This record gives sequence, C-alpha cells and structure tokens, in this order.
Amino acid sequence: MELPQSNEEDDFLYWKYHPSVRYTVKTGYHYLSKDWGLERSTFLARDQEFVKLIWRLVIQPKWKVFLWRLFHDGIAVKFNLARRGIRVDEVCDHCGVDLEDSQHLFRFCILAKEVWEDSSLTIFHDSPGFNSLKDWIQHYILLFNSEDGKHSNRCALFISSLWGLWKSRNARCFKDDTGSISLVREFIHLAMDDHETFKHQVRPSIVLEVNDLDHPTIPPGYNYGHLGKEKSGFDDFIVEADGSWDKKTTRAGIGWAIKDNHHGFGLDQGGKHGAAALVIQSEAWACLEALKWARAKGRQGILLLSDSLGLLSNLRMDPGKEISIAWLLKEIKEVGASFQRCTILKVQRDQVQKADDIAKKCLVNSSNLL
Ligand SMILES: [Zn+2]
Repeated sequence: MELPQSNEEDDFLYWKYHPSVRYTVKTGYHYLSKDWGLERSTFLARDQEFVKLIWRLVIQPKWKVFLWRLFHDGIAVKFNLARRGIRVDEVCDHCGVDLEDSQHLFRFCILAKEVWEDSSLTIFHDSPGFNSLKDWIQHYILLFNSEDGKHSNRCALFISSLWGLWKSRNARCFKDDTGSISLVREFIHLAMDDHETFKHQVRPSIVLEVNDLDHPTIPPGYNYGHLGKEKSGFDDFIVEADGSWDKKTTRAGIGWAIKDNHHGFGLDQGGKHGAAALVIQSEAWACLEALKWARAKGRQGILLLSDSLGLLSNLRMDPGKEISIAWLLKEIKEVGASFQRCTILKVQRDQVQKADDIAKKCLVNSSNLL
C-alpha cells in the first residue's frame, strides 16, 4: 500500500491501524507487532518522543502539564475519579447520557462536537482510527507542529479549545454554571489572550530535564535525585517531608506524611523535635527520618517530596558542597540506597503543607509525633 503520487487527487489512502493514517514500513510493523506483544515498547518510545515535543512547544507551562495529564489520562474526569475509588455519579453533567471519561468530555459529548464543528481548525472529533484520546491529541499536535513549527497558532488554538472544554466542565461541576457553548467560546478566547501575552514575555530559557515521562501524576521537568537501586521511574508510595527551624533558639521540628490516598496507602505521618544550626539541617533531617520511617515500615520504594532546593542540589552533587549537612547527606544516601526505588523530588512549598504543619507543631510543643 502506498500514498498517491500526485497532490491533486482528492482521494487518499488511509491506513486505519496507525494514528498517522499513513502506511509506512514502520506503521505496518507497528500493526503487526500488536499481535506479538511488542506494542508496549513501540508505544513507549513514540510517546516519550511526543512528550519531549510538548515540552519544546512555545506554550504556557500550565498547558504543558495539562496536555501531559491528558496524555496519561490523569485528568480528574468522573470516570477517573471513580477508578480511584472516589464516589461520584459518573454520568456527564452536560448531556446526561454517557459516562464522563476523557474521550467523552473532549471528543464525543454533544458539547465537544459543537466546539469542534464551530472551530476554524479542521478537526474530526469522531474520526475512527484513534483508540484513545491520547492518539487523537497526538495526531493533531504532530500535524500542526509539522506544518507550522513550534510556534504554531493552530496548535495553540487546539490546546485552547481542549482547555476551554475543561474549564467550562469545571464551571459546570463546581459553580453550577450551565457550561454552554458560549461559555466554552469565552474560555477559549481568554486562553488565546493568555497565550498571546505569554508569547511576548521575555523569559530566561530553562532547560528542563525530561527523564521520567511515565509517571501519571508528576510532570517531567522537576528537580529530583534518584537514590535507590533503580535509577528511573517514581515509586507510588509518596511521602512529603519538611523541617521547621527557630533561629533564636536553634530548635528544630520535622514532619512527614503520606501524600495522598490514590494508591490505597493509609494516611500516616510522623514528626520529631530537636536542634539544628541551620534551616537546611532541619530539611535534611526531615528527609532522613522520613526515609528511615518508610524503611522500618518495610517499604521497598518511596517518592519523597521536599521543598528544599538547597537539599536537592546538595544531594545531586557528589560530595555535597554544604559541609554543615555532610553527615546527614551521607546517611540519606545510605538509607536511600537500601530502597529499590527512592527518589527525592523538589516540589513547591504548598505541596508539603501537611509535613510543615507537623514540623511546626513539634517545634512549638517540643514533642514527637510517632
Ligand atoms: Zn456529555
């Protein structure tokens, strides 16, 4: 099977077994390999390339994360919430007919249909050959990117439309808005305005590290260090840790807590009080104690969240430059190495709020929480 030689013909050959709809040796092999159990590895390589492409697009970081979530089907549509054990009525609020999964919300719902038919982009929301939302999104972004480059306005409009559907869905669920087509249009309009502003901002170029692309809840490009035996991937057991320090009294408190319950881990936490000479010591101590605690619980893997940039950059250097935490770093690395998977990930401050609260309490009350 081959593509027509001339561009003047209206007809085109369609290879339905691959999202590119083009038959090449590669896509043919892709189809054949499905039956041989090779699909997963083929897909992963291609998906990783695609995520790298998303990260190179000139779009707002929140859009990158949004696309990345869509790509991993990690968006909080009702079907996904129910899958995580949250009790919800899974039917779509807009049409009241079908289950609200991500395919429905962004492609098949009557509202999505209206949005795509209304759009100046030629989007076939229900074209066959795309088994998942991921394949469908990938198809259009690759198309626009290959034709217009990384500054593609069509790409931006496509993402704005997905964003608009998502925002109006949230307005419908949380603000009792009707979430009609006019609201979606408004959101798309606002999103495009934001995009224009973003494009004209002067920003330092940040080189993002994209090593682990396979985790459904944490976007790539975050600062982390792998300490365990495996040097890639994140563990599902997520714990936040934080330290609190009083400069006047040099007293310190530390806290840690299991992050959330998505993976069926019960909520658990701990904290201690003591002394520290610097704030970074309390941060490092919090990480160390959280690791020891997880180890004592028999965990083979952990993803530890810390808001300390200083700790992270010291952990990633060998040996750490901060002499005041040299022994703590050594111990953290030793305990970390005893796990199969152990990663310390730098997160924003608000993501370790629970651990921070515990640390402050332990500091103020000079008490332990064990
Ligand atoms: Zn619907």
